[in-house]
Amino acid sequence: MNNYFLAIIGGGPAGYTAAEKASKAGKDVILFEQNALGGTCLNVGCIPTKSLLYGAKQYHNATHAQKYGVTAENVTFDFAAMQKRKTIVVRKLVAGIKARLNNDHCTVVNGFARILDSIRQVWRIECNGETYEAENLMICTGSTNFVPPIPGIKDNPAVWDSTDALAATGLPKSIIIVGGGVIGMEFATLYHELGVPVTVIEAMPTILPNLDSEVVQILLDKYRKAGINILTSTKVESIDGNTIKLSTSELLSTLNSQPSTLSAERILVSVGRRANLQGLEALDGLELECGAIKTDEFCRTNLPNVYACGDVTGKIMLAHVASRQAEVAVGRMLKQIPLQRIAYNAIPSVVYTNPEIASVGLTEQQVRDFYTEMEGEAGIEKAGGVEAFYEVRKLPMTFSGRFMAENDGETGLCKLVLDAKKQTVLGVHCIGNPCSEFIAAASFAVRNGYTAAEMQQVVFPHPTVSEILHEIL
Ligand code: NAD
Repeated sequence: MNNYFLAIIGGGPAGYTAAEKASKAGKDVILFEQNALGGTCLNVGCIPTKSLLYGAKQYHNATHAQKYGVTAENVTFDFAAMQKRKTIVVRKLVAGIKARLNNDHCTVVNGFARILDSIRQVWRIECNGETYEAENLMICTGSTNFVPPIPGIKDNPAVWDSTDALAATGLPKSIIIVGGGVIGMEFATLYHELGVPVTVIEAMPTILPNLDSEVVQILLDKYRKAGINILTSTKVESIDGNTIKLSTSELLSTLNSQPSTLSAERILVSVGRRANLQGLEALDGLELECGAIKTDEFCRTNLPNVYACGDVTGKIMLAHVASRQAEVAVGRMLKQIPLQRIAYNAIPSVVYTNPEIASVGLTEQQVRDFYTEMEGEAGIEKAGGVEAFYEVRKLPMTFSGRFMAENDGETGLCKLVLDAKKQTVLGVHCIGNPCSEFIAAASFAVRNGYTAAEMQQVVFPHPTVSEILHEIL
């Protein structure tokens, strides 16, 4: 049979979630994937990095165990074994998705799919020389690493992207990471914990520029003290082999007396990702926004019965956003009442540095910018300053007994941003292990517009680090 209710292009978190949901609802679904199921997240993103980072953390903990009364001598690691374990974890998860789609009777085709045309509201897709037809189309083609137009970057064997770094069989002797965003800082953590000298070059005045600045400062101070060379407000002018020519603003270079060139065995470039639009050329008139597919609140594009979910929509490039978008889109396609929506204001995010950073909702800076714009200069002055519109509560993580027991020498921070008048929770920002595991509780509060008083009525188990969310109220 080559006629389907839904054809999905791309088998990452968006694609396979949509396929499962629509198949479970009894619809005929076909999913095209040119590589392995699971997409970037499972194969060359979240899961492999977290597997390697866990290995690095085990090594780091073993070599820093003395403060807990444990001495381990001659601790070594085997990077090849870490890589092998990573591959096994990925393989098992990919096999799990395959089995689930199989159980749901979803057809999976391995190959590059190209949209041909639409005839009488039926979309025709070509893959491996076969033509398929579908009433609805969902584009979940994801994103790829962006290669900035820096002279000397292209076809340079010393230059890696995150996929190259994950595939490497050995560790580099030294590494320069261009881009101090999420990918850059996670790889900086991995290499640093495994003893590789690391330099991070970030164009903005701070690393992780979209996160709460106080939280980021704690990481920055810790990483610099630990020996990671982090250069901010610094751009790469050109690359020659494994040497980078830097361009720092004149003032900063005088102040910091930074060198104008840097060399390392490898240069990892992680300066963002771009939507994958190949194979979609026949979608005449498909509306784009900043190089990604423009979608509405139900992930509908401007073309009839064409949906797009995940990184290709360029909204928030996170796997959990992709899968939620897929749920919402399929719900809309199946006209499931009540129609669901995505709470973009309550998307949690985690950076797997050590310590971890986890956050949800608005940062203090975003709240300040919002009120400054809303109230204008006169309104702000009348109120006695922008601080009159919001409230910030902060606590070091050491207020949690469990944190104290398990994080010797660390202070961490939990920061809560409230609306001053309504006392609703606008954002929560944490640094300290394992904040990734309890940020979802804060997401509930932001998503449901809880007030501080309502959140305080939630009972948190003792002793857990999550209690900080109660203490801070
Ligand atoms: P990013 O946007 O997070 O960071 C890129 C950084 O590079 C920015 O800080 C930017 O200022 C800097 N930059 C840009 N051009 C530069 C230049 N020429 N020189 C120096 N610095 C430059 O992008 P990323 O780290 O590549 O991650 C890509 C996407 O993948 C992001 O959307 C991210 O959220 C997602 N991701 C998420 C996780 C996670 O959830 N833990 C992990 C990895 C990736």
